[in-house]
Amino acid sequence: MATTPLQPSTTHPVYVIGGGPGGLAVAAALRGRGVRAVVLEKSAAVGASWRTHYDRLRLHTTRRLSALPGLRIPRSFGRWVARADVVRYLEKYAEKHELDVVTGVEVHRVERAGTEWVLHATGGRRLVASAVVVATGYNHTPRLPDWPGRDAYRGELNHARSYRNPEPYAGKDVLVVGIGNTGAEIAADLAEGGAKRVRLAVRTVPHIVKRTTAGWPAQRSGILIRRLPTRLVDRLGALLARFATPDLTAYGLPRPDTGLATRQREGAVPVQDVGLIDAVRAGKVEIVAAVEGFEGDEVLLADGTRIAPEAVIAATGYRRALEPLLGHLDGVLDEHGRPVTHGARCPREAPGLYFTGFTNPISGMLRELAIDAEKIARRVARTAKSGAKSATKSAPKSSAR
Ligand SMILES: Cc1cc2nc3c(=O)[nH]c(=O)nc-3n(C[C@H](O)[C@H](O)[C@H](O)COP(=O)(O)OP(=O)(O)OC[C@H]3O[C@@H](n4cnc5c(N)ncnc54)[C@H](O)[C@@H]3O)c2cc1C
Repeated sequence: MATTPLQPSTTHPVYVIGGGPGGLAVAAALRGRGVRAVVLEKSAAVGASWRTHYDRLRLHTTRRLSALPGLRIPRSFGRWVARADVVRYLEKYAEKHELDVVTGVEVHRVERAGTEWVLHATGGRRLVASAVVVATGYNHTPRLPDWPGRDAYRGELNHARSYRNPEPYAGKDVLVVGIGNTGAEIAADLAEGGAKRVRLAVRTVPHIVKRTTAGWPAQRSGILIRRLPTRLVDRLGALLARFATPDLTAYGLPRPDTGLATRQREGAVPVQDVGLIDAVRAGKVEIVAAVEGFEGDEVLLADGTRIAPEAVIAATGYRRALEPLLGHLDGVLDEHGRPVTHGARCPREAPGLYFTGFTNPISGMLRELAIDAEKIARRVARTAKSGAKSATKSAPKSSAR
């Protein structure tokens, strides 16, 4: 008996833009449901972002809770998987699921064409898709604030994206700007790796949590509290912090005055401690006020002080940078350039356009990418099936055989 193909009336594949964990997970889930998916990746290989993160990075989510659908992360990789092993895992993932990945192809623009989508990509390619999954990454383009005097600054200023290890900074006086997870870890790395002096500029004091407390991973707490009321989580978080993390007020890091869940709602995940607390207490990382601007070879801080580090590393985050790709489509991006939907839901004006990886959940992004992959694949397969059925119904009898 012939099986009904799951492709819609058109034979065009689903295109997945981006070969990171999010895109690969969706492609595998689609394939598992018989839907043809092609991953377009602009770099030379899958997992591009993990190939260029700093050397000492390990997942701060557990191995078990970071696996993508259909392939466990090997036990031999340990509980906190190293960056290079994440890359190995992603390569293996694409291979095991026999994913159709085309590398070296960047999608520049996505357009609607009737019930289909047209992708404009490298080399003048014009690719027609039955549906599109955008998985180009939350951390797409480095964000460097437009500080006054920045362009005329005579010192060395780099974004954290280009930081690999402390070697180039040995013996140097370094200022790290921003106390997100990346800034906190780079500051600790520099302090442990031989920088002469490390200062960390902080605008908003973060919540700092231990990666594990008595063997219990912070990620599991994140999963448990995710659906609880904000006020309750704020209170629980404050209680737990008092018990689990030392008070660093004397070092310039008082406990935050807004709760953990309130911050999370504003888009700020807590900082996982992988060395910062010890480094701050040992005086190896000094906390200073936020950066306000530059003048000559000096950095101007919010409390009026001026400092002259030899190098500045801006751990100031990333932009989604979806505007060139999708900004011309109505009802797809909000005023901050973020997709208005994610997972199995599509924007009302853009049926067949899916997004994954554009939220920053406290429960771990890899875990959410895995969950969203299944949801998207289920929805695409269902839509394809109903499309195929109505095509069969409306087709002339002779061609239905
Ligand atoms: C330093 C760091 C540590 C992290 N640690 C953890 C952790 O421990 N646990 C956790 O759960 N999450 C973690 N995350 C968050 C998240 O899991 C990762 O960022 C993850 O890589 C996101 O996967 P993604 O596929 O959405 O995006 P990415 O991995 O960024 O992949 C996007 C891909 O799309 C490609 N691309 C972009 N634009 C285009 C285009 N126009 N055309 C074609 N290709 C394109 C890029 O080259 C890239 O390969 C971390 C993030 C960072 C930055």
